[in-house]
Amino acid sequence: MFWKKRRVAETGFVHWRIKKRCLEMILESSKSTYPNEFGALLRARDNLITEVILLPGTVEGDRHAIFNFAMLPIDYSIVGTVHSHPSGNPTPSDADLQLFSKRGKVHIIVAMPFDEYSWRGYDGHGNSIDIEVVE
Ligand SMILES: [Zn+2]
Repeated sequence: MFWKKRRVAETGFVHWRIKKRCLEMILESSKSTYPNEFGALLRARDNLITEVILLPGTVEGDRHAIFNFAMLPIDYSIVGTVHSHPSGNPTPSDADLQLFSKRGKVHIIVAMPFDEYSWRGYDGHGNSIDIEVVE
């Protein structure tokens, strides 16, 4: 089994999953923050996203959530970011792509109407990736 794991690591392929209740929390927060943008960090264990962490100093505005990474302790269980797009378009903006490349390996954008179909996962390069929802 060991060689198999190594091979996966070498090809760089990571199968990301997210807990259903964590995704629901993200969607609910995005709805309640609307028309402003919701932003938070993602915490994972073994590539399973289990928790969202609200950053002190995260500024919610009508254009983009500003992530204050200076407030963040070094914590390797934090794997990426999530934020909402009140516009309804889940495509990352130029600012998002910069953010993705700076910090984290997995990023989520949730767009209006913030339901189970209106979110997308991205890697650090802004490529769309599949994130499996698990119970
Ligand atoms: Zn954005």
